Formats: sequence, C-alpha cells, structure tokens
Amino acid sequence: MPQLPPSADLGTHEVTNQPPERGDADLWAGDAALRDHAAAAGANAAHLARYGAEMGTAAMRAAGRDANRHPPEAVLFDAGGRRLDEVAFHPAYHRLMAAGLEAGYAAIAWEGAAGGHATHAAMVYLTTQVEPGVCCPMTMSYAAVPALGADAGLDALWRPKLTARGYDGSIRPLARKAAATMGMAMTEKQGGSDVRANTTRAERDADGWRLTGHKWFCSAPMSDGFLTLAQAPGGLTCFVVPRWLEDGRNAIRIARLKDKLGNRANASAEIEFAGARGRRLGEEGAGVRTIIEMVHHTRLDTAMAPAGLMRAALIEALHWVRHRSAFQRRLIDQPLMRVVLADLALDWEGALALGLRVARAFDGTDAHERAFARLGVALAKFLGNKLCPNLVYEAIEVMGGMGYVEDTALPLLYREAPLNSIWEGSGNVICLDILRTLARTPEAAEAVDAELDAARGRDRRYDAALAAHRARFAAPPEEARARAFAESLATLLTAAVLLGQAPAAVAEGYVATRLDGPRGRVAGSIGQASLDSEAILARLGRGAPF
Ligand SMILES: Cc1cc2nc3c(=O)[nH]c(=O)nc-3n(C[C@H](O)[C@H](O)[C@H](O)COP(=O)(O)OP(=O)(O)OC[C@H]3O[C@@H](n4cnc5c(N)ncnc54)[C@H](O)[C@@H]3O)c2cc1C
Repeated sequence: MPQLPPSADLGTHEVTNQPPERGDADLWAGDAALRDHAAAAGANAAHLARYGAEMGTAAMRAAGRDANRHPPEAVLFDAGGRRLDEVAFHPAYHRLMAAGLEAGYAAIAWEGAAGGHATHAAMVYLTTQVEPGVCCPMTMSYAAVPALGADAGLDALWRPKLTARGYDGSIRPLARKAAATMGMAMTEKQGGSDVRANTTRAERDADGWRLTGHKWFCSAPMSDGFLTLAQAPGGLTCFVVPRWLEDGRNAIRIARLKDKLGNRANASAEIEFAGARGRRLGEEGAGVRTIIEMVHHTRLDTAMAPAGLMRAALIEALHWVRHRSAFQRRLIDQPLMRVVLADLALDWEGALALGLRVARAFDGTDAHERAFARLGVALAKFLGNKLCPNLVYEAIEVMGGMGYVEDTALPLLYREAPLNSIWEGSGNVICLDILRTLARTPEAAEAVDAELDAARGRDRRYDAALAAHRARFAAPPEEARARAFAESLATLLTAAVLLGQAPAAVAEGYVATRLDGPRGRVAGSIGQASLDSEAILARLGRGAPF
C-alpha cells in the first residue's frame, strides 16, 4: 500500500486563499467596544484584561470545542445496578468551569467591590465567546445568591460556597466541599412559563420537607443544590434541594438527558423527586416572589450572552474576509460585504452597550438604578436575543461554505443562538412582563424615560423617533402589540446608550439605520442611509490579532 506523506498532503496542490489559524486572541485587548462600555459601566478593567486574555487563548478555545464534541453522559447506575444518578463530563468541561469560577464568575458581583455586576456581566460576554454551555451552571450559581437572602440559615450555609472563587466538581456532601454550584428546577411537563401549574408536591414530616414529582428541564443536574418550586399546603413554595444529604444521596433521580439542538457541553436533565429532602426558602406560598430574585439575575446573563455570541460570530467572519479573496479582491474590500458586516456590527455593539448599561444598574444603590434594572434587563434580553440568531446566520454566509462546517466555530454558535431567548421568560412572556412592569411599577417606566430623555438633543433623528414612539404608544399597548412596543422601546434605549458612549460612526450609524426611515428586513439592506463602514469595521476588529 502506498504511504501517505506525513502531512497528509498528497502533493496535488498548494493551499492558498484559506485564512490562517487564529491562534491566541486576546478577547479584551482586541475588543475596543468592550473596553469602552465596560469602563462606562464601572467594571474592573484589570480583572477583565486578565480573564479576556486567558479565555481567548487557542488552548481555551480548543477546550470549548472539545466540551461540545464530547457531550456529557448520564451515568444512572453502577455496575451492580445500584442507582448513581450522575453525569460524566469531558475534562474540557471541568477545565472551563474551573477557569470561570476561579476567576469569580459567580462570586465577583457579591464581594462588595464597585462594579461587581458589570464585571460579572462582561465575564459572561467573554466566556460565551469561547463555550456558552458552561455559562448555564455558573450563571445559576451567581443568580442563586440573592434569592438565598430569604433565609439566614440557608444563606449562611450556601453563600460562602457559591461565592468561593473556586470549582469543586467532586461528588460529595456540601459540608465536605470547598466550593459549590446551584441549579434551578422550575419547569414541568405541563407548564414552563406558567410555573403556577407546577404539580411537584412538598409535604412535611418529622424531619422536614419531602418533595415528590418531576421537573421536565433541570440543567446542570450535577449542581450541589437546586432552587426548586413545589406545591406546599400553603401554595407554591421555593425550596433548596441539595443533591447530597449528610448520610448519602438525596432522592433525586435522573430520568434522562435532553438531546438538545445546542448548548451541548451543558447537561439538561429530566429529573424525578422521589421524596427528596428540601429546606424551605422564603415563606410558604411565596415561591414565585422568592425565586424571582434568582430569575432577575439570570436574566442579566441571558441579556449579555447574545452579545457574546454575536461578537464571536462576527470576529470569525471578519478574520475570514480579511484573508479570503474572490474575483481578485479581498472580501473585506468588497463594498457590499463591508456594508453587510458593518450593519451586523451595529446590532452586536448595541447589545453589548445596552447589556452593560443594565449591568451597571444592577450595581446601583439608588432607587433610579434599581427601577431601571427592572425594565432595562427585560428590554435588553428581548432585543439582543431576537437579533442574535439572524446575525450568526449571516456570519455563516459571510464565510461561505466553511461557515457551515464544524471546523469553524459558527455551527456551535448557530445552535446556541436561539437559547437565551427561551430561558428566563421566552420572547412573548418577556414582552408581557414588560407591560406588567409598566402598569405596576411606574418608577421603572420613569427611569427608562429619564434615560431616553437624557439622550435628546444629540441627534435630531433620535429625537424624532422618540417623539414618534411616544405618540404611537401614548396609552399602554394591548397584549397583541407588546412585541412592537418592546422592540421599539429597546431600540430607542440602545440608541440612547450608544449616543452617550459610542464613537460617532457607531451611534449615528445605528440611529440612521434603525430609527430613521424605512430599511429592508435583511442585513445590509439599509435603505437611503449611509454607513461609515471603515470606522465601524475598524471598531469591530481594532487590536485583534489578524
Ligand atoms: C436547554 C434548556 C435548558 C433548560 N434548563 C432549565 C432549567 O435548568 N430549569 C428550569 O426550570 N427550566 C429549564 N428550561 C426550561 C425553560 O426555562 C422553558 O422551556 C421556558 O421557560 C419555556 O417554558 P415551556 O417550554 O414550558 O414553554 P411554554 O410555557 O409552553 O411556552 C411556549 C411558548 O408560548 C409563549 N407563551 C407563554 N405564555 C404566553 C402568553 N400568555 N401569551 C403569548 N405567548 C405565550 C412562550 O413565550 C413560548 O414562546 C430549559 C430549557 C432549555 C431549552
């Protein structure tokens, strides 16, 4: 049999016109927009510089791909048929978890330093670019912390381990672990958005509470505990259900892992509580009020994640077009390609800027910022996630056939793109929540209005669009118009943030193409507006090692 040359190069042709490997990419130093908006949000730049450099290394990006290519497996029984109810992960998953948690992904917001939530949110954005699946368990651990405040005893038990700046993936009781993670179990077969339809029962016996029932989606089932909703005699109630008890496994059975479109590094399980022990968190009957503290914080992360996915897709595409030619010209130099990329880049920077502005509100201590966070997070989550899948798809097309091939990061990003919209209030539910907030929390509407007003006078097209929005929605919209309202308000709010802190080419380009006059429904179809593609593309890629 003829031997192949060691390089598997058959000598038939020379490889040309294919981009080089990206190698190490500093995700902080290469991202001017992140640095600007993180500074405006009061985030810890030195910390993010370290984390961004580490996450962008070729080795870390390879770990992200490995964690996806080797998804977790349920290990339900040992060889003797005894129940284990465990999940085995590839070492790359543990490596990424350790990198994030040791750097304070779940902790930094709760350590008391200024800008903690903004720093956390920027870490979500950075981590998402490398491997979005591990963000789920880390985000839930971050977000569980404020909900635990409903019970001093549980807070004392769990908070130090959730915020330990460490990762301990070992399988043993909480007391014997240096660090812990927390999941969230709400969704059941008969209802996800409508958690009041939960049927899992919580009954009290001499030793405390026992839970019986199921959860249809329970991500990160190897978490050390789960904030869980169950029906107690006094109504829907929140419980902390540990995976381990002092004397052995808690009665949480894994039925199977979901075979998901994306988010493949992360395990999402169907579970059964077979009389599992839990401790009540918050008052009996106040389950939604208690767990909403967690949901409010996971929403921040689901608003940041699409910005990270968009960034990852665009930067891959930009690398490609800088090194690929067609018809004797580099793709980056083709006018139509430039306008498509520049148009897409505006949505990415808009999502990034608004997400970090909202994160700053999470750090705020005054009433205005708290009120702004309530509505702002829903608006940012809605708009960023609605734009993300189409942007990733366009980035695939920018790369031609190779964008569709698993050798590039694009298929992973594409599979992930719809997910953050489903989590923590799917699109419609978020829009209805926005209407409810307007009706019940006038101070939230006032805080957003104040932000919109503060941007007036900077661009007459923005002023006109704001006036038109207010005339169109003079009265609160009915449910059927909630998406139109949310899209319009979120777009204006994004423009207001960009006008305050983005370079003119970006802010004016956003206003010209999103607020002023008709445009087509597809990327690059910008109507009569003109974009400063040169400046926008420089912003996208300045400092990136291409
Ligand atoms: C990968 C993955 C991981 C997950 N992990 C977890 C987890 O760890 N823990 C957990 O608790 N859940 C988890 N979920 C579940 C997720 O939170 C739910 O799928 C989500 O909340 C939607 O609930 P549902 O699937 O029951 O859809 P439904 O509630 O049936 O909603 C279906 C659609 O109807 C819309 N809708 C609902 N009400 C209205 C209305 N009044 N008007 C108009 N439209 C409406 C919704 O917006 C949605 O688009 C996970 C889901 C996925 C995909």
